[in-house]
Amino acid sequence: MAAQETVDHKYVYDFSEGNKDLKGLLGGKGANLAEMTNLGLPVPPGFTITTEACQAYLATGQEPDGLAGQIEQHLESLERAMGKRLGDPQDPLLVSVRSGAKFSMPGMMETVLNVGLNDQSVVGLSAQAGGNDRFAWDSYRRLIQMFGKTVCEVPGEEFEHALDDAKSAKSTHNDLDLDADDLRGLVDTYKKIFLKHTGREFPQQPREQLDLAIRAVFESWNAERAVLYRRQERIPADLGTAVNVVTMVFGNLGPDSGTGVAFTRDPGSGAQGIYGDYLANAQGEDVVAGIRNTVPLQELEQLDKASYDELLGIMARLEEHYKDLCDIEFTIERGKLWMLQTRVGKRTAAAAFVIAGQLVDEGLIDLDEALHRVNGAQLAQLMFPRFQLDHEFEPVAKGIGASPGAASGTVVFTSARAVELAAEGKSVILVRRETNPDDLNGMIAAKGILTSRGGKTSHAAVVARGMGKTCVSGADEIDVNVPAKRFTVAGQTVNEGDVVSIDGTTGKVYLGEVPVMPSEVVQYFEGSLDPEHIDNALVRAVHRIMTHADGKRRLAVRTNADTGADAARARRFGAEGIGLCRTEHMFLGDRRELVERLILARAPGEREAALEALLPLQRADFEEIFREMDGLPVTVRLIDPPLHEFLPPLEQLAVNVAVAQERGEDVAKEEALLAAVRRMHEENPMLGLRGVRLGLVIPGLFAMQVRAIAEAAVSCARAGGVAKPEIMVPLVGAVQELETVRAEAEKIISEVVGDSGVEVLIGTMIEVPRAALTAGQIAEAAEFFSFGTNDLTQMAWGFSRDDVEGAFFWRYLELGIFGISPFESIDRDGVGRLIRIAAEEGRAARPGLKLGVCGEHGGDPDSVHFFHEVGLDYVSCSPFRVPVARLEAGRAVVETDGSDSR
Ligand code: PEP
Ligand code: MG
Repeated sequence: MAAQETVDHKYVYDFSEGNKDLKGLLGGKGANLAEMTNLGLPVPPGFTITTEACQAYLATGQEPDGLAGQIEQHLESLERAMGKRLGDPQDPLLVSVRSGAKFSMPGMMETVLNVGLNDQSVVGLSAQAGGNDRFAWDSYRRLIQMFGKTVCEVPGEEFEHALDDAKSAKSTHNDLDLDADDLRGLVDTYKKIFLKHTGREFPQQPREQLDLAIRAVFESWNAERAVLYRRQERIPADLGTAVNVVTMVFGNLGPDSGTGVAFTRDPGSGAQGIYGDYLANAQGEDVVAGIRNTVPLQELEQLDKASYDELLGIMARLEEHYKDLCDIEFTIERGKLWMLQTRVGKRTAAAAFVIAGQLVDEGLIDLDEALHRVNGAQLAQLMFPRFQLDHEFEPVAKGIGASPGAASGTVVFTSARAVELAAEGKSVILVRRETNPDDLNGMIAAKGILTSRGGKTSHAAVVARGMGKTCVSGADEIDVNVPAKRFTVAGQTVNEGDVVSIDGTTGKVYLGEVPVMPSEVVQYFEGSLDPEHIDNALVRAVHRIMTHADGKRRLAVRTNADTGADAARARRFGAEGIGLCRTEHMFLGDRRELVERLILARAPGEREAALEALLPLQRADFEEIFREMDGLPVTVRLIDPPLHEFLPPLEQLAVNVAVAQERGEDVAKEEALLAAVRRMHEENPMLGLRGVRLGLVIPGLFAMQVRAIAEAAVSCARAGGVAKPEIMVPLVGAVQELETVRAEAEKIISEVVGDSGVEVLIGTMIEVPRAALTAGQIAEAAEFFSFGTNDLTQMAWGFSRDDVEGAFFWRYLELGIFGISPFESIDRDGVGRLIRIAAEEGRAARPGLKLGVCGEHGGDPDSVHFFHEVGLDYVSCSPFRVPVARLEAGRAVVETDGSDSR
């Protein structure tokens, strides 16, 4: 940058020069102080030093050229406006120096109050305050304390101890019992502490105080806690903070002064009304420090009616202006009201919906804006039952919140026991080290699932999310001993039959029963609450905003479901078809024996017989699903997981065989099974014989499934229904694989379908990076693509989806290598690029190619926006995520259309 430009660059803005849209430059606090100033509200005069000045300081370790001069100019005009000079011995102007970044970082950075006080001006301040010596000396001791701690790193405890000593000397716990002489003495002590730690006297020059305080606020951007907070909240590290220099006003000048905070509506429920706290004769930090108890804001009406009425008027004005819930801080100095801060207030998920609905009713915002003001994460929160944690409950362990919700129940360790107790009407929590497809019945029967291993895409997590069932995975403080039917945690033993409670949102595990409340929003989606006829502001607001989102969205929303019950529920939640029906669970339970025969077949005809026996069972499975999704598309994926998952685990089998041999029993069958399990053992089963590879290796397997799908569709059509099957081939990496499957499938379909009018599409998953990169070729053989982003993420990053989240993602998150697990939210740059390439090249080769996504990302809010941008036709997600995806698909349209962004 040229020297001339540097000198001329504007680093300081008077409050009258800024506005609320300049948050990046002036920080949130500065921008809103400017906005209030321009609205003519009573804001103490001041100016803001920009984030750019902070960035320049942090880059070079020096204030940028020109900054000192600009501060001087603004200070002079501030002095002119107030008719006082900074640190004037007779009538001092005092200022506060406050941080304020673009994004709120509460309490993370520094503030120094009462800058401008010194040994002379403290006397002038007292005179100006009507001879209130106590007030003046208290202000001075606060300055030395804050300045010492913030600017010069004097240990804060030293000041606190000195204050405690002064109080002990007067046998009191209350600061207000210290009189002017006590505080004068305390100032002396504080100065000595300052000298001891800094090797210099407390600076008496007001301008030096100011410059050092500004510098300290700049530096507080890089304080350890601020860095940590930013990382957690994903706030960019290079933004810097602005610094606000504001004329001091005092809430501690007597009973006609005070300070408070307020919200323009209830940030908890969204209800209209006045919510706030007030503390008479106090400064802002006293409220935060909780030194004395505040009173409800309404009581200010009795104390100072004029200020109260003025405040209410300002609050109404701010709401109308910001068109949103505002939170504010104010001070009353001897009956004069001053606004110290406002911002759009944080709120709970329920309040977000309720307030957005109210603001539409009040004509302040339109429905597009209301849609913009809520989000899928909030809706998801509202859809889960919650613990009533008003009593003291201490968690005993914390795992990964794998599938949200709250569940209490009796601990069981096996699927069979879960089914048994559930049949007796008991709520059970299935506890396992990790789950596998064999646990499915137990998972269906359980209220919640708790595992000590596995991440957010572990079997337990994915299946539980699919069922909308609470799950905590990877709670590794829990030591599970299935044979002994117990687990230990934090030195305690929990046996089968004991009760535990798990919170799938926070990942917390509690011993004993924590009461649970059901979600009204789910009752509404289920159709059991009619928004037109109930007096429930939340349900009405959700209904209204969802209806608008549905009207806006371009993306269709389907569901991942593989049972009739799931399909039916998803349909009630608004699913417009099935995007992924996984067929693997259809090979378990009673059918296991047939599957074993299929896998072990040696003699001619054995395999065919097993497949023939499986055919009618599969047909019935599909008929049920087609019935539930009558008239809507149903994508059925041919069997995907490695076959050994359908056989017993190797170790267990080996032990059983050895024991039986020892006893001299006939173990020919078990030996054959063991040999098969050994034969099929793979070091990396996720990269082994699964998906299309399996279909090409086991003759007749895919053919049986294709026939069952086609026959089920025809039987639905004959019964007067409309089935729209889409057969999906998993794990394709080369067009030749798909062509081979397709040729066989087409023959079967045309044979079965005949003149029934049923149309069956054939497409593929895109979940192997090679498939994405050769999408142009693959599209020649596919009528649709569905992105399997679970596998695509696994293979693009080389991360084992079952292991890495629990193993080392915490470190990657800590280092900021990614802000969120790429299994949870799509990695736009890498995996997203593969999707873009495949979408573009696929559509170039086959115009109109239908594109969808069925990995877990289909229900993730941010990922839905990405899929909208890339131009997919639909997203598919677990039934409980369907409303979230509908909402986000609507929001994606509103945001792409260019509504103002947050
Ligand atoms: C995927 O890989 O994203 C997918 C949907 O398939 P699965 O999770 O069953 O491997
Ligand atoms: Mg997959």
